[in-house]
Amino acid sequence: EIKFYSNPVYLKDTIAGSILFLIDETEQIRSQRIREEFSANVSHELKTPITSIYGFAELLKNDMIPAEEDRVEFLNSIYNESKRLLELTDDIMKISKLEEGSELLKSKVDLKKLSEEVLFSFTKFAEDKSVKLHLKGEASIIANENMMWEMISNLVENAIKYNRENGEVTVELNEDGKVKIKVSDTGIGIPRAKQNRIFERFYRVDESRNKKTGGTGLGLSIVKHIVKNHGGEIKFKSKEGIGTEIEIELPKVT
Ligand code: ADP
Repeated sequence: EIKFYSNPVYLKDTIAGSILFLIDETEQIRSQRIREEFSANVSHELKTPITSIYGFAELLKNDMIPAEEDRVEFLNSIYNESKRLLELTDDIMKISKLEEGSELLKSKVDLKKLSEEVLFSFTKFAEDKSVKLHLKGEASIIANENMMWEMISNLVENAIKYNRENGEVTVELNEDGKVKIKVSDTGIGIPRAKQNRIFERFYRVDESRNKKTGGTGLGLSIVKHIVKNHGGEIKFKSKEGIGTEIEIELPKVT
């Protein structure tokens, strides 16, 4: 989208000519639109849990729930919705921080050690779903360590979350000029028609399916930002009912 601006040029009070400015606003308009959409989505996403917390609390406060077991159920809902609210605000803050684009502190990161720690942190979550976790290969990189943790952790969390009972998750590291981090699972996969949308903010493949599994719809969007900030690329393959494979390629020194 090209905008025209024409400014008159004065020579001693009389117009001597004019300068024509041509400004390409496509990128500006696009990012403005993305920002507006994001704010609208944030408000909507925050409003849902706040409305239910408020509703449940009001009923409890006014003594409108006579049965003890119903009260416990209401308190549980308040607890769950508050937890969701915390997760949402955490993720939103992470995205805002990444978008500021400020220079990240970088150091040498042993990705094998880091992945071991990430996998360890998911031991209980994986056990509950009877999912086995594996780590292959090794690699090191100059990058921001917290971001590398966040990136691998989001991918592993999804790989477990969207897996099947007795499924497998493998983190594979590789170094051949570039650093490659591949997270594959034997899970439910992503329908082809929806694959190009999964990196969008708040996008979730199937709301009802996800209600049970929890999540904010921001995880992959955070991953995409981290990869972009480190000058890398994301590729993925997914087949419904077979599994998903997400591969990140980063320069050795980012
Ligand atoms: P969420 O918090 O919903 O997990 P993400 O941004 O991490 O949000 O992922 C977006 C959507 O992409 C998820 O809701 C899910 O439907 C789909 N998805 C992500 N990773 C996988 C995976 N490994 N297997 C199947 N579906 C996935």
